[in-house]
Amino acid sequence: MSEKSRDIVIVGGGVMGGASAYYLTKSDPALKVTVVEKDPTYEFSSSTLSMANIRIQFSLKENIQISQYAFEVLDRFGPEMAVKGDRPDIAFRREGNLFLYDRDGRDGAETYLKTQKSLGCEVDWWDPEKIVKAFPLYNLEGLAGGTYGPKDGHLDAYAVVMGYKAKARDQGAEFLKGEVVRIMTEGRDVSGVELASGEKIPAGAVINCAGAWAAKVARTAGVELPVDPVKRQVFAIDTAVKPETALPLTILPSGLYFRTETGGLILIGWSLPDDPVGFDFNWDRDRFMELVWPALAEFVPAFDTAKLVRGWAGLYAVNTLDGNAILGQWPGLKGFYLANGFSGHGLQQAPAVGRYLAELILGLDHALDLSIFNPVRITEKRPIAETGLV
Ligand SMILES: Cc1cc2nc3c(=O)[nH]c(=O)nc-3n(C[C@H](O)[C@H](O)[C@H](O)COP(=O)(O)OP(=O)(O)OC[C@H]3O[C@@H](n4cnc5c(N)ncnc54)[C@H](O)[C@@H]3O)c2cc1C
Repeated sequence: MSEKSRDIVIVGGGVMGGASAYYLTKSDPALKVTVVEKDPTYEFSSSTLSMANIRIQFSLKENIQISQYAFEVLDRFGPEMAVKGDRPDIAFRREGNLFLYDRDGRDGAETYLKTQKSLGCEVDWWDPEKIVKAFPLYNLEGLAGGTYGPKDGHLDAYAVVMGYKAKARDQGAEFLKGEVVRIMTEGRDVSGVELASGEKIPAGAVINCAGAWAAKVARTAGVELPVDPVKRQVFAIDTAVKPETALPLTILPSGLYFRTETGGLILIGWSLPDDPVGFDFNWDRDRFMELVWPALAEFVPAFDTAKLVRGWAGLYAVNTLDGNAILGQWPGLKGFYLANGFSGHGLQQAPAVGRYLAELILGLDHALDLSIFNPVRITEKRPIAETGLV
């Protein structure tokens, strides 16, 4: 790397920005890494508004491998991210994920299962009897069974974001409050960023980790990204009937999903085709009452009596080409790196993404080849298939 390019600016300090800063400064403590975050409270960041689920159950080999690495990292996150003896507690609860299928979906499920098993993942096919025995509140009528991953689970996403931030800072990264309003360029090279305050930060590399705002940030450098901010809602209910054991993240063929939250509430989400595009964070009680609750109570009849405790809305950064990560250097603009378009599965991808970007920028060998997510496929309109998107 030339001296000039050793200054790296990361736009966005959510989980992707933090993980990237951590791996960069871990690989080369002499780098000057600046993370610019417009809202250090993370009120609207997807990372802190997510369902915080981590799963091995994907269909694409690379997405499975990314999660395998996440499992490794999250298991040792506390000690690895400790700063001056202070260990983050991410409360990783491996309470399982259960993907349910009807007869039409069963063949596909068996194919993904085969891929997952060939990579050494712990996932099994459960028939309806086994599912009902484990989770007696479920109504399996019309379903062929499901794939159960006992190692999948959920965690405290805010603690992960804060863990990366604290450790990256300790390793020398600077976190700055500010809004990037322009990616600066010189010809076909990136040259830094300009903030809303007017301050300019020169850099040889800029990483776009702006989540749902990624397309807006990229556009300032003349780069068009197919990344839409799509509103997704989560509801929390207190049910009259309490399940005897924690319910795994359970995903119905319709896409409705729910799980037990720490403390015994049930969290529910459902990505629907009419979810609006835009920066709207209002959650909609009527949507729960009219659509989500009836569908949930059909599958778990005991949940027909429940108190709606709260809800929230966050944004998926949806890659409209194929729903998968856009990861790597943008063709035609040297030094402009992207970690975008993670839709509903970015939290679990942050460790592998941060490590991959650091290797790419520093010219190191890759521990895991993620070149399949190269942004070139965007310009060539070449989607890659992943059927395990929620
Ligand atoms: C409801 C919901 C449920 C989800 N469930 C899961 C799940 O169970 N498992 C999973 O793995 N993933 C899940 N996700 C997806 C996951 O949350 C995201 O993919 C991931 O958090 C993306 O991280 P990020 O750092 O790219 O984005 P963010 O966390 O949004 O961070 C981007 C940051 O960039 C900042 N920013 C934007 N523009 C600028 C600018 N111009 N200047 C400075 N800063 C800027 C923002 O303030 C923000 O903090 C879910 C998302 C939602 C909304």
